[in-house]
Amino acid sequence: MKIIGLIGGMSWESTIPYYRHINETIKQRLGGLHSAKVVLYSVDFQEVEQLQHQGNWLAAGALLAQAAKSLEAAGADFLVICTNTMHKVYDQVAQSVAIPLCHIADATADIIRHDGLQTVGLLGTRFTMEQDFYKGRLSQHHGINVIIPDEADREIVHRVIYQELCLGKIEPQSRQEFSRIMQQLADNGAEGIILGCTEIGLLVSAEDANIPLYDTAEIHAVQAAEISLRS
Ligand code: GLU
Repeated sequence: MKIIGLIGGMSWESTIPYYRHINETIKQRLGGLHSAKVVLYSVDFQEVEQLQHQGNWLAAGALLAQAAKSLEAAGADFLVICTNTMHKVYDQVAQSVAIPLCHIADATADIIRHDGLQTVGLLGTRFTMEQDFYKGRLSQHHGINVIIPDEADREIVHRVIYQELCLGKIEPQSRQEFSRIMQQLADNGAEGIILGCTEIGLLVSAEDANIPLYDTAEIHAVQAAEISLRS
């Protein structure tokens, strides 16, 4: 079994489900007392969040590159970054190590294409919803059309992520807002919704929407577990 290197802590609230999904997948596949081989580098998210909002992505990337090198030195065979937003610095992190780095959008796109969807709604931080590093990868590399909420709703989603979910606050009112926003995306043509922030799965589940939800944290974690079992 390969050793999975997790660059986590962004936020730690969403790293917990990664660990659980990875181990549940290994247990399902191997049975008995089998569990995943994992090394975790959990960052101080306040440092990362400050660099994000200052627009200092180079420094944020350097911080994650340092974490990646530590995991490589600790014996990880491949890496995953446990957040969608920080895939903005994917190339910087990937270039800092010799081991592979599994992209969260590629893992998600594989499932969406397998399900035969053409157009999906995307919820995430403003960085993820508005910039090209994520949407562009889905459309250019995978041929998936991506639609996003309007400006006011993007503000709501971004605020709930940083001021509630990353702090472990699960508010029923925010769940209702997300449900409304997902319905709006469906009305605008989305056939499914990418929960493109690894905390959103803590707030909403299948019954909060009339179309399929793609929880990137779960998809990415399950893919990591499956890669770890490949020879
Ligand atoms: N975990 C979130 C994501 O998947 C947001 C936290 C971050 O900015 O990294 O994008």
